[in-house]
Amino acid sequence: MLSVLTRFITLLCLAFLAAYIALANWGADFAIAAGMAVLSVPLVYSYINLARLRKYVLQDAVENMPLPSGFWEEVFFRLQRLVRNLKQEIRTVEKQHDRFIEAFQASPNGILMLDDQDQIEWCNEIAERFFGLNFKRDALQRINFLIRRPEFIQYLNRRQFEDPLLLERMGADANLSLMIQAFPFGQKRHLLLVQDVTDLQKADAMRRDFVANVSHEMRTPITVLMGFLETIQSLDIDKQQRDQYFDMMMSQAQRMKSLVEDLLTLANLEANTLPAPLQEIKIDTLMALVRNDAEALSQGRHALNFEISTPCNLMGEEREILSAFSNLVSNAIRYTPDIGAVTAKWSVNSQGSGEFSVTDTGPGIASEHLSRLTERFYRVDRSRSRDTGGTGLGLAIVKHIANRHQAQLLIESTPGKGSTFTLRFPKDRITS
Ligand code: ADP
Repeated sequence: MLSVLTRFITLLCLAFLAAYIALANWGADFAIAAGMAVLSVPLVYSYINLARLRKYVLQDAVENMPLPSGFWEEVFFRLQRLVRNLKQEIRTVEKQHDRFIEAFQASPNGILMLDDQDQIEWCNEIAERFFGLNFKRDALQRINFLIRRPEFIQYLNRRQFEDPLLLERMGADANLSLMIQAFPFGQKRHLLLVQDVTDLQKADAMRRDFVANVSHEMRTPITVLMGFLETIQSLDIDKQQRDQYFDMMMSQAQRMKSLVEDLLTLANLEANTLPAPLQEIKIDTLMALVRNDAEALSQGRHALNFEISTPCNLMGEEREILSAFSNLVSNAIRYTPDIGAVTAKWSVNSQGSGEFSVTDTGPGIASEHLSRLTERFYRVDRSRSRDTGGTGLGLAIVKHIANRHQAQLLIESTPGKGSTFTLRFPKDRITS
């Protein structure tokens, strides 16, 4: 490849040669014309190539331009290589950028990037949902104009971001609790991370309610027991009265024992997240056990019916199933007034699911209570529950046992007529 200087000197020599030949043959005018003609060849060649370059640049297709031969070939070749490399780099950076955006979008947390003026530079879809934002509309808007909660504005202005901020009643339905924390980065920029802590807050509230409920449940029998003890200690009472007090103390102690036992059962069930094991439980043996308990509890005050329409086996944890069945039958007996009827029935329905149902002719339950019956300590009739030794935990235990056996607890009830509680087990837990 000839150097630029060599090319230039060659061109000048050719121009002089042409001028000299023209001068020798046709005179000075022709000599100038011949020299100019030789000099204009590379000019025309360059102009044509520049025009082609302009065309391809305007079409953003420099890398597709056919290479000319000669002086411009190398320039265009290098230019094409440069453009190709630059475009490749841009594509790589774009891909990386897209991957970052995808990762941020996949995050379960809201992410907002704020510039040095607290304007939104970018936010993910979760953040849009949490705060009702629309990035396309709200980009470069100041965040404190969009999230107008005073505690948030204060948090932002204070510029002390060591601790997160809890915002409650957020979201479109004002039912979200959001934990927000800002992290400084770059040139006075901030990354806002927003975590949905609604479930954690609910669990915390439930835990507090639970502790309050347990304390309340324990306090009554303890107070009664202490009252009796003080009476026995301070008053001179006869043996008959003393025995009467001891009986009453025993029943309060029994109440505490039942409560502690139910709490332990519930704690064990909650701790065990695995599905119940597949022990073969003979339904007729199980029903006989439930019947014995029922008869002891009712003491002949109710008409008790036990029916097995399809004898078979149930695969599950025997102790738990017995506890669930007995709980439902015991509730039916406890809430049904004397002379009422309680029917416990085992059957297999047309889809092959096993069903244990308990129907009573008791007071029934108003529909607004039905969805809450399995909550811990939820009672429709508080005094009746206590009078009959209820702990308020029976149906919560039944529900947990049902979950561990992939069973459903169905409740139908008509106030004034009675209720039917059904446990429906999946067909793969039923064997013949
Ligand atoms: P408890 O120990 O109070 O019976 P449960 O969790 O077993 O607690 O039941 C929750 C509440 O559901 C009871 O307090 C009672 O008001 C209502 N309940 C349960 N079973 C029946 C029933 N068969 N008939 C009427 N009410 C019932």
